Amino acid sequence: MITKDREKPLRLLAHEAAMRRVPKTHPKHPQLEQEFYRLHYGYKGEQAMDYYSSFLPHEDYKVLHGLRIPDTKGRHFQMDSLLISPTHCLILDSKYVSGKIEFDEDTGSLIRHNEAGQERLGDPFAQLARHKIQLSSIIKDLKLPRLPIYTQIVITHKNATLLKKSPIILKNVVFHTNLPTRIKEIDNTQTHTYFSNKDANKLVKTLLKIHQDENFNLMNYYGLSSSSFIRGVICPICSHAPMQKSYQKWLCLKCGHSEKELLQQTIKDYPLLGFGNKITNREFREFICLHSSHIAYRELLSLNIPHQGNKKARIYFIE
Ligand SMILES: [Zn+2]
Repeated sequence: MITKDREKPLRLLAHEAAMRRVPKTHPKHPQLEQEFYRLHYGYKGEQAMDYYSSFLPHEDYKVLHGLRIPDTKGRHFQMDSLLISPTHCLILDSKYVSGKIEFDEDTGSLIRHNEAGQERLGDPFAQLARHKIQLSSIIKDLKLPRLPIYTQIVITHKNATLLKKSPIILKNVVFHTNLPTRIKEIDNTQTHTYFSNKDANKLVKTLLKIHQDENFNLMNYYGLSSSSFIRGVICPICSHAPMQKSYQKWLCLKCGHSEKELLQQTIKDYPLLGFGNKITNREFREFICLHSSHIAYRELLSLNIPHQGNKKARIYFIE
């Protein structure tokens, strides 16, 4: 049973907005693009893993995707997926990496071999070992029975080849297509039931309560100024901006495309880029490239979003 669905992370949504709104000529664009692809493929890998982790040996599993929680000392950590059964927990860590990859047992690092040489891609073993300790301390704090916690690195790229398959690696690393078999193997070795349904529910309830989405401000993170961004409604056909409001529609002066409902989507970019979720009529006009404050007022009303204050001091809140 899925108890927490995976949602697209804010950091990825912000980078998607940056790909729409930071001009290709901007000096930070290459860095933004590189990070966008890293996040995009990371998420794609997690989604691929979700499909295979849905093949469970029995109904008593609770599945939580994309948990980001503080441990008992307040340090936040993120688990790609957590499976809770009455007999054990299983933490899954997705690695969307292509090519010839190797896990260095001595250093715990993930290494990719390519023509240029070696590329180190973090230390997933050490990270999972930490997560295991952190989760176990949360369980202990809740005075729940201490149950075994397993971890698995899941390779989610179909063009990945694993080099140097030692017994330890084979036990801890699995290709996503083999994940159902691995989950079953781990399940089969369990001989003791630790968690009642009530215990499992208590843990799930706590984890959901302490889960916190990551705060991320793109503009601050990259040191971008508010003038770095492409403004206005962007044409969904040819990417020209700004589109102009003409009668009831948004019109592209470059390709002639016109469309009605584009503002709802456009305004979401404002908080995603790091401007914050409050906007005044004046800021809205600047962002959407409208001259008339009256038209801006009408457009803001059409968005049907919460607001506070009156006349010029009115502030609108974007979700
Ligand atoms: Zn166009």
